[in-house]
Amino acid sequence: MIRHHLTDQLLMAYAAGNLPEAFSLVAATHVSLCDDCRARLMAYEAVGGAVLEEGAAAMEGGVEACLARATAPVAKRPSPRRKGVLPGPLADYVGGGIEGVRWQKLGMGVRQAILPTSRRASARLLYIPAGQAVPDHGHRGMELTLVLQGAFRDETDRFGPGDVEVAGEELEHVPRAEQGEDCICLAATDAPLRFKDWMPRVLQPLFRI
Ligand SMILES: [Zn+2]
Repeated sequence: MIRHHLTDQLLMAYAAGNLPEAFSLVAATHVSLCDDCRARLMAYEAVGGAVLEEGAAAMEGGVEACLARATAPVAKRPSPRRKGVLPGPLADYVGGGIEGVRWQKLGMGVRQAILPTSRRASARLLYIPAGQAVPDHGHRGMELTLVLQGAFRDETDRFGPGDVEVAGEELEHVPRAEQGEDCICLAATDAPLRFKDWMPRVLQPLFRI
């Protein structure tokens, strides 16, 4: 069902503990929903462990061989349970369910809640009413957007529950929630967004978006 995954680069950085906290939260949440990325993450963790223990010898036969050796004996980790809309890692982070989230209004029914993370990157929950668009914006850095409920579309594709969009600097998009169900996302950015409309730009410093 999940069609948009974390990149290998992100999974490797996550396995190595090198991601900013906000991105780690998105990665942990996606991995809790996605068997495919969980298996890949475990492989990277195992490779990392093997390299630490055996040094360069672990890499004999190249990365592929090392991955094959590392993944063979690893049993599948069970996927953690969801607590309502919020998957386990995110519910732990927020300290409860979606009902306890304190939203800020951004206009047009769009709401957000900034999550407390280290300042290298910021994480927020976004609530987009069905059919509503989020203002057109580009990015100075990278943005990860994980769908928790509903779905959105932008210029690149459709993103449904569990899907993660990895957007770089080059993407200027207008995400729009699909009709039917309100869309809730977890988004992380490593630089402030550049909103095109003057209104959101004025508000940007206030909302840290
Ligand atoms: Zn995945």
